[in-house]
Amino acid sequence: MDRSTDTSKALFERALGVMVEGGSSPSRGPANYGDYPLFIERGSGSRVWDVDGNEYIDWMLAYGALPLGHAHPAVVEAITGAVSGGNLLAAATEVEIEVAELITAMIPGAEKVRFANTGTEAAMAAIRLARGMTGRPKFIKFEGHYHGWYDDFLVSAHPHPVAAFGHRNDPIKIADSSGLNRRALDDTIVVPWNDVDAIERAVIDNRGRVAAVITEGIMANIGVIPPRDGYLKALREVTRDNDVLLILDETVTGFRIAAGGCQEHFDVGADIVTFGKGVGAGMPVAGFAGRADLMEGLAWGGVLHYGTQNASRLGMFAAAANLRELIKDDGAAFAHLWHIGETLCSGLRDLFATKGIGAIVQNVGPMLQIMFTERERIEDFRGFCAHVDRGAYQRFAWKLFEHGIYMSPAAALHSVACVAHTDDDVALTVEAVERALDAC
Ligand code: PLP
Repeated sequence: MDRSTDTSKALFERALGVMVEGGSSPSRGPANYGDYPLFIERGSGSRVWDVDGNEYIDWMLAYGALPLGHAHPAVVEAITGAVSGGNLLAAATEVEIEVAELITAMIPGAEKVRFANTGTEAAMAAIRLARGMTGRPKFIKFEGHYHGWYDDFLVSAHPHPVAAFGHRNDPIKIADSSGLNRRALDDTIVVPWNDVDAIERAVIDNRGRVAAVITEGIMANIGVIPPRDGYLKALREVTRDNDVLLILDETVTGFRIAAGGCQEHFDVGADIVTFGKGVGAGMPVAGFAGRADLMEGLAWGGVLHYGTQNASRLGMFAAAANLRELIKDDGAAFAHLWHIGETLCSGLRDLFATKGIGAIVQNVGPMLQIMFTERERIEDFRGFCAHVDRGAYQRFAWKLFEHGIYMSPAAALHSVACVAHTDDDVALTVEAVERALDAC
């Protein structure tokens, strides 16, 4: 293809002079993009353009932060209308109440809300709240679940050769970073997901010491792995029966698979829900919500949660516009997200079958990931580490860039549909995937 990316290359060389790996997150650097990342200049609807003027259909959407797509007119209008009144007041504002009211109406069981800026912060605060309210130090997380880059969560979240994880009945905890607080890791118990016996054993063995279980409702950081039938309900039961709080991390799934996220879709309750990406239409807005008696633990003198930027004025205007768009017309936006996700998945599955490609597509509605594997399904982290060819996916995703498709180059991440995607985008994507496969 004659799509030059020379300007991206030159900018990367310049960036390397002043930023580690030329950017602000390893996800945006060579680990995912190889020689140099594409420098993206702007986005509109379902499209982004790089600095060389190449256009892409965007299925990454800022790692899932844009359910409406780029620069949705309602969000642009809300932000431009508000910006002359100041970005940040760090004071009580009416728009913050409006967003909290929208969220409590959308998220089942959310009686009170607290805003933060990132999904990491929201999960950190939720764990502190759970520890503070129960007086217990430990919590359980699952292998392959990512809840942000806080020390306590960076255990067994990243793929490794499967032998490194030990026996599934007694998993070896793997630190995902240098520099972690080892004492914090002692209080993190790691369990395989999608396995009712494993979580029952862990909760019962640690009764009286565990404040909470934290889980993604759909695994979204190891491709897309849905819960087995009844798994989330069993998790709810075992936590409730053993007086352990259930924290549902809806950073990815919230405001995406349904107005009420996984709680609504899988008809399961949680004590505390964290959310992020989907709420602020690209502005750094996140938060957590839950039962009033629990959330009241954040009152002054109890469990501390601060933040100068919490509920920034501009972020709240963006979130209000985003949420209103998502729920209007009886949630037509969610129906569209599902339609696009399902249509893309079936187009890709048909293509792989016709061409005899050893790849599967796993999805829950608008969240999907292509996995190069000979398996029919991937049901947990260990299955992903053992049976998915991550290198083949990365080479394929880089090839897709050359054919105008912007999907995550990381096999462990996923693609998402947005409100701006059309059936034409789906058809163009399937055609481009075919060309990219031929060129691989
Ligand atoms: N929780 C989940 C499930 C996530 O996927 C992520 C980010 O990808 C986070 C938490 C952290 O969110 P943030 O990057 O906003 O800190």
